[in-house]
Amino acid sequence: MIQVTKPFLPPREEYERLLDGIWQRNILTNNGPLVVELEQKLKAHLEVPHMLYVSNGTIALQLAIKALGLKGEIITTPFSYVATTSSIVWEGCTPVFVDIDPDTLNINPALIEPAITTNTSAILATHVYGNPCDIEAIEGIAKKHNLKVIYDAAHCFGTRYKGSSVFAYGDISTTSFHATKLFHTIEGGAVFSRDEKLMARLDFMRNFGHNGPEDFAEVGINGKNSEFHAAMGLANLNHITSVLDKRKQQWLRYDDLLKPAKAQALTVNRYATFNYAYYPLVLNNEQATLQVVSKLNANKIFPRRYFYPALNRVRLYATGVLTVTESVSSRVICLPLFHSLTNAEIDKISEIILTTV
Ligand SMILES: *Cc1c(COP(=O)(O)O)cnc(C)c1O
Repeated sequence: MIQVTKPFLPPREEYERLLDGIWQRNILTNNGPLVVELEQKLKAHLEVPHMLYVSNGTIALQLAIKALGLKGEIITTPFSYVATTSSIVWEGCTPVFVDIDPDTLNINPALIEPAITTNTSAILATHVYGNPCDIEAIEGIAKKHNLKVIYDAAHCFGTRYKGSSVFAYGDISTTSFHATKLFHTIEGGAVFSRDEKLMARLDFMRNFGHNGPEDFAEVGINGKNSEFHAAMGLANLNHITSVLDKRKQQWLRYDDLLKPAKAQALTVNRYATFNYAYYPLVLNNEQATLQVVSKLNANKIFPRRYFYPALNRVRLYATGVLTVTESVSSRVICLPLFHSLTNAEIDKISEIILTTV
């Protein structure tokens, strides 16, 4: 059986060596030494000035919305994981969906301005599949209309944009280190900002608002992460170069083999150094997509219709029709892509697709 993803696991001894330290110190959580070490190493690795490690990517989004004090409407993409939209609603704001670009599959900046009202406070855009949004256009609109920008960069570990980590952009960028992501800490996430005051606020907020044992600087939540999760991150970080290199080689192999397929591959932002996190394939129609899925399933191969349904089609968040998003979402599949996937498996998957459509 080949699933769409399979978490990377470091050699067990490397994780256990870090556990020995936890047993010696008997510190399990509350910003312990491994959490501090992981934050330092990630900041150095990503070349970002500030980062806070949190319990998951969803809490990272919620903290970002809260710390920026957002109210009213937030313009966002319906082509993302549900957490992008549910976080907006969870924080008492209203998501306003804007359609996506048919090539990059990211929010279409040309459609943002018409969606702005007097109640709009921010733009929350996802860099879908690790492919950066049109950051220049989004920041230009935000500046003109005095809006905040949050990037959901959950797919973006390793993605760079114009020479910096893509996490360095926006008022706040968030990411996820969930087990299914390219770099993971089992569960986990992070918030990034260049604004030190905002980072200080986020730091309080992640820890119940505590400013020392008896004082509270903010209304907070428990967004901390544990020493065990940080240990997995530290162990995985030692292997990140080979994980990223392998992913690129696998991605390019799919891309080469699937050139003749009646399908559209992803258009990567020309200013990006892409991390090759996902291999999405947009087939010509939904029927072809369902045929490919069923043929692969019959061979015990399980791609994922990701993202399907489009979030504007989820009953809880339903709004009007968004033509491009709904069309892409009905036709896209993400192919299996993970560290231990072999070339022979990629060849087989590609062969099945080519003989089906
Ligand atoms: C994974 C993911 C999230 C949520 O992250 P968790 O760590 O699972 O909470 C949010 N947005 C996108 C786009 C994601 O892929």
